[in-house]
Amino acid sequence: MPVLFFLLLAAAGASQAATVAPSEQPALHALANAPSEAELRATITRLVGFGTRHTLSDTKSDTRGIGAARRWVKSRFEAISHDCGGCIEVVTPSQKFSGKRAPQPTEVMDVVAIKRGKRDPNRVIVMTGHLDSRVTDVMNATSDAPGANDDASGVAALIEAARLLSKQDNDATLVFAALSGEEQGLYGGKVLADYAVAHGWQVEAQLNNDIVGNSQGQNGVIDNTRVRVFSEGTKSNETAAQADYRRYHGGEVDSPSRNLARYIDRLADSYLPDFQVRMVYRTDRYGRGGDQVPFLEAGYPAVRVTEAHENYTRQHQDLRSEGGVHYGDTIDGIDFRYLARVTALNAITMAALSRAPAPPTGVDSQGAVATDTTLSWHKVPAAAGYRVHWRDTTAAQWQHQRAVGDVDHAVLQDVVIDDWFFGVSSVSADGYESPVVFPGDAGSFERSPAAASSSAGR
Ligand SMILES: [Zn+2]
Repeated sequence: MPVLFFLLLAAAGASQAATVAPSEQPALHALANAPSEAELRATITRLVGFGTRHTLSDTKSDTRGIGAARRWVKSRFEAISHDCGGCIEVVTPSQKFSGKRAPQPTEVMDVVAIKRGKRDPNRVIVMTGHLDSRVTDVMNATSDAPGANDDASGVAALIEAARLLSKQDNDATLVFAALSGEEQGLYGGKVLADYAVAHGWQVEAQLNNDIVGNSQGQNGVIDNTRVRVFSEGTKSNETAAQADYRRYHGGEVDSPSRNLARYIDRLADSYLPDFQVRMVYRTDRYGRGGDQVPFLEAGYPAVRVTEAHENYTRQHQDLRSEGGVHYGDTIDGIDFRYLARVTALNAITMAALSRAPAPPTGVDSQGAVATDTTLSWHKVPAAAGYRVHWRDTTAAQWQHQRAVGDVDHAVLQDVVIDDWFFGVSSVSADGYESPVVFPGDAGSFERSPAAASSSAGR
């Protein structure tokens, strides 16, 4: 009798789970080879052609400076929108800043394309790059600063991703933003993060693409099969009480940004067989920053996507030759096939996130002094089911998973809570899966510190 009972249970569980398991998505496979190298090249050629795009450069000229570059990007977004029947709205939020690298109050303006989600428009997936460029002296606003790789490559990638995704449906809202003021103090990232907060956006992910077009390291290594994804381990705005809880119960490598990085890594494994994500457990490169930082400070999940091997003779350099070395960020340093792969990774990630349900909220784990672990969560709209995940506490990626159906809790028999890290994802009826959410405030994808009042705060 017990054996039969078990078999019946297993069969019931299997048929229920079958309806909610993540599945292969032909639409994501199609995006893998969709980015056009010609489009990417045309965009970078055009941006380099504005001479300099320094944040303090001319804003009136139609041919040179940051103003002309901004207006051209805006016209590109408008053309893409025209081709999709007006599916994209273009906004240009701006603020005035002054600081060490902007002595006079300077208007910093972002050019932002918004493709509203059909079902869940307040949930927002953001892709950013920065339009501004610089040479050796960060205050030099007049010398030629082509910025082909830093960061016309990121802007080209996001315009191409916008073009590709403009032709497809999205449940969550997609945002493609060319930021300014990065080199003067991450101002454009702040402008967009403030805009997101002011408009009540629930930003689920910001993919900041900065320096994504070069495949030859300064030391001569050539590698066009790898991209780095940097993610913070613990939330930038974690409170002292949240940190106390997290230190004891775990979560130091499970911020939503880190689980977003794991999600991107898995998508690359599934849909880009010739391309690897190297996850780096850091907010950014050593001692350097990027526009993901203002989003993290605002309490949103964010990662930095950047090339695997940098060439510093091409970054932030006056154009010159010295000792047989060519200095400067010129277009001949771009590997367009590589940039197309990075663009595909972003487009696939945005499509997958925007079609999946929101990540579960209120995720909690219980099971001290017990042989089983119980996970619980709040159901989210549009989820047809959920998956629980666990991994060894020293493992980088989720190792085990189980589809548990359209329920709000699950018991993992003979999985001892002490020995594993746990998480929960949501799955749509057509098999799109959200990122995995680690229990408690440490892992919540809800804008932090908003989760402090929820049940997950214990
Ligand atoms: Zn940059």
